[in-house]
Amino acid sequence: MDCNASYIGQTKRSLDTRVSEHRRNINGSSKYYSVVSDHRLSQQHDFDWTNPRVLHREEHWRKRQVAEMFYIKLSDNTINLQTDTENLNVVYDNLIRS
Ligand SMILES: [Zn+2]
Repeated sequence: MDCNASYIGQTKRSLDTRVSEHRRNINGSSKYYSVVSDHRLSQQHDFDWTNPRVLHREEHWRKRQVAEMFYIKLSDNTINLQTDTENLNVVYDNLIRS
């Protein structure tokens, strides 16, 4: 809500469940802070928890992971770590951006 950063993540569970986990993460031990919590704390920003967007639906676990990596690479403003996409071969980089 305070900048244009976004976070992209896949889950097979309900969106509400996953969003509330991300939201509550900040209440737990700092050892387990997520990039979402890190952003909230370091920037003093918060996320628009009520408007998560479904980018893609995929039942198959591996296909869902690939879709997640594509969307992270496509986005200019995610706070996702680069390691979130390291399983996607670099040969796709130019295709994704074209
Ligand atoms: Zn921010």
